[in-house]
Amino acid sequence: MSRHEHPLGISFEFFPPGTDVGRDKLIQTRDELAARNPRFFSVTYGAGGSTQARTREIVREVSQSGVTTAPHLSCIGSEKAQLRDLLAQYREEGVDSLVALRGDMPSGMASIGELRYANELVEFIRDETGDHFNIAVAAYPESHPQAPNLDRDVENFARKMKAGANMAITQYFFTADAYFHFVDKARASGVEQPIIPGIMPITNYTKLARFSDACGAEIPRWIRKQLESYGDDSEAIADFGTDVVSRLCQRLLDGGAPGLHFYTLNQSKPVLKVVDNLSG
Ligand code: FAD
Repeated sequence: MSRHEHPLGISFEFFPPGTDVGRDKLIQTRDELAARNPRFFSVTYGAGGSTQARTREIVREVSQSGVTTAPHLSCIGSEKAQLRDLLAQYREEGVDSLVALRGDMPSGMASIGELRYANELVEFIRDETGDHFNIAVAAYPESHPQAPNLDRDVENFARKMKAGANMAITQYFFTADAYFHFVDKARASGVEQPIIPGIMPITNYTKLARFSDACGAEIPRWIRKQLESYGDDSEAIADFGTDVVSRLCQRLLDGGAPGLHFYTLNQSKPVLKVVDNLSG
């Protein structure tokens, strides 16, 4: 936890960049966002360990800001021995927070690994390391794409929270009621831990549409139509996106959301424009 935490309880996600230029840009973004005193930073991880080394390297770089930094860790395609080693390395490096995920099988990977779902990973981390790590898991207000329905997904979500997670971070969404409905269902299933909304800034319509299709996040028709009408006008898209996402965030906070986790895509400007529009 950082000192003098931002009053709205904000946190930021980065991905490990593939180039030196991307790395330099991330350091700049890290510093601009660290100045807002976030609760924590997190760094994503490629399923099956494909970016494991880069995630570790970037976690080291990002944590030099003094902000608690949580590596994402996925279990699909991994053996317990590999995960045990990685947990030991993180402990040695002073990491005390993780985002624990099942992940998705990369194409071409043959074995599913020894742990099939995120609840098994959370159990494994608790068995191996006790209370050392503060563990966050993923939640899906609009249902995980592979779940047969929301009720079943909430059951699975509750199982993973009961396995010892400290909090959850949601997939992004643009309909505040989907979040409130999910939180109500989770509470009815006995989940008491904080469920932090994950927030995606809107900066590029084509990329957002492609990504949303893949992860099952819905872009409401009125937002799609408006974004389509702007064509290549990136300034108009950014202005509209800031407005839509700021209103969403304000509704979430006013409705009791216990913080906001921003998917930064390694850029500070779009998320800071939103943060600066918000009040507690
Ligand atoms: P799980 O919680 O295991 O759920 C996966 C599916 O299985 C769901 O449909 C669920 O309903 C079902 N299920 C769960 N438990 C059981 C059970 N015991 N029995 C039967 N069915 C079950 N991906 C990456 O590769 N790298 C990242 O860094 C990354 N970070 C993410 C961060 C956040 C905040 C979010 C929301 C997602 C992230 N993802 C990341 C994507 C994530 O890996 C995928 O959505 C993946 O498909 C599911 O992972 P999970 O941990 O939610 O899985």
